[in-house]
Amino acid sequence: MKIMKFGGTSVGKPERMHQVKDLIAKGDEPKIVVLSALSGTTNALVGIGDALAAGDKATAKSKIDQLQKHYEQFCDELFSSAEAKKEGLKIIQEHFEFLNIILKISFNEAINKDILAQGELLSTKLFYELLSELGIKSVFLPALEFMSIDENNEPELPKIQERLGKLLAENPREKIFVTQGYICKNYRNEVDNLKRGGSDYTASLIGAAISASVVEIWTDIDGMHNNDPRIVDKTRPIAKLSFEEAAELAYFGAKILHPASIWPAQQFNVPVKLLNTMEPDALGTTITADMSEIGGVKALAGKDGITAIKIKSSRMLLAYGFLRRVFEVFEKYKTSIDMITTSEVAISLTIDDITHLEEIKSELAAFGHVEIDHNLSIICIVGNLIMEQNGVLQNIMNSLADIPLRMVSYGGSKHNVSVLVDAAYKNSALKSLNRGLFEF
Ligand code: ADP
Ligand code: ASP
Ligand code: MG
Repeated sequence: MKIMKFGGTSVGKPERMHQVKDLIAKGDEPKIVVLSALSGTTNALVGIGDALAAGDKATAKSKIDQLQKHYEQFCDELFSSAEAKKEGLKIIQEHFEFLNIILKISFNEAINKDILAQGELLSTKLFYELLSELGIKSVFLPALEFMSIDENNEPELPKIQERLGKLLAENPREKIFVTQGYICKNYRNEVDNLKRGGSDYTASLIGAAISASVVEIWTDIDGMHNNDPRIVDKTRPIAKLSFEEAAELAYFGAKILHPASIWPAQQFNVPVKLLNTMEPDALGTTITADMSEIGGVKALAGKDGITAIKIKSSRMLLAYGFLRRVFEVFEKYKTSIDMITTSEVAISLTIDDITHLEEIKSELAAFGHVEIDHNLSIICIVGNLIMEQNGVLQNIMNSLADIPLRMVSYGGSKHNVSVLVDAAYKNSALKSLNRGLFEF
């Protein structure tokens, strides 16, 4: 059985949804089809939630009405028969009625999560209806019946495995299952989600849960490119990546994959393929456990919204246990650290989640002088055996000669070098590195 996940742009227009239908109807292998919300929908739902959080019901109402119109038109173009159009409108009505009821009750974070879930519920129900209209047999799998996260917002893989296994076993002869990406239940049994871009994560978790033959991530580009195509002109797709390389790129900003979407597939050794819905014959990127023998830099990514913390203390000199005490502060506030560099008297590290920054800062002050810098970006340079390749570091540094580097991390692994720059330099760093590393 394989997983086929289609992102927002892949289902965002009626004709694209038809393309998706063609792609999933091909081949005999049973498949679980994971869909995102139509492109723009989750952003619109975030807007509705924000308006309600601000107490601005008029704006929320007008955003709901605008979105409903969009769906009604989509429905009209998606289906051919009058009966299917009617069914489609019924689905739309049901979900927009729900949004309109929310307007009348008092808003809270749990309700906000309910609002955000409407996008994937709508896309999958409309797609399921399209398959029925065309006589393609499929089973609707409600993600809220099997996908869950615990009190630390971590997916509960064994439970997902058990519940999904049962649902699939109820339909032993079926070939096509349709489910929602992104949405899940939390430990309070409320509707929740796997954070923005989370449908990739859903696909990988399902792939791991059923030990799928492959997880296919169908999107609007022909695979993982060697640099961010939104920023740099001359980028090209990479045919093969190892799980480690892909995970690193996803975590450090390659938007094509949700930051956490590689580990489940990696843990169960399920290959992940990145494919283009608009160009289905393009090679794409295949991600497996294989490390290529070829050394050198393969790709770059940049991650924004980074905060650096420096702790300076002469007490650190020749003292053991200092780092442990520093790390315990971050552990206490469940804040993960990305980059670290140390000198004899200071330690610098970076975080991206600043929810508990004030508490962390005041606890760290007990160890020495604390300095905080906001608005930084990590540039992550990924490849194989980077450390063993003569001249790679020199090449990186030459390319970045004109850019002030706040931190450099080299040697943590054989396949990664990271540098920290002011966010204002992120784009020029990615462009200069592209010229220096790929465009010769
Ligand atoms: P989907 O809606 O299918 O999930 P996303 O917008 O989340 O699609 O991801 C695809 C986009 O990721 C591409 O259109 C591209 O602009 C962006 N992207 C950023 N970095 C990379 C990269 N290194 N390789 C490919 N795409 C990238
Ligand atoms: N619809 C969600 C989002 O826009 C999840 C996804 O597309 O992966 O973030
Ligand atoms: Mg995405």
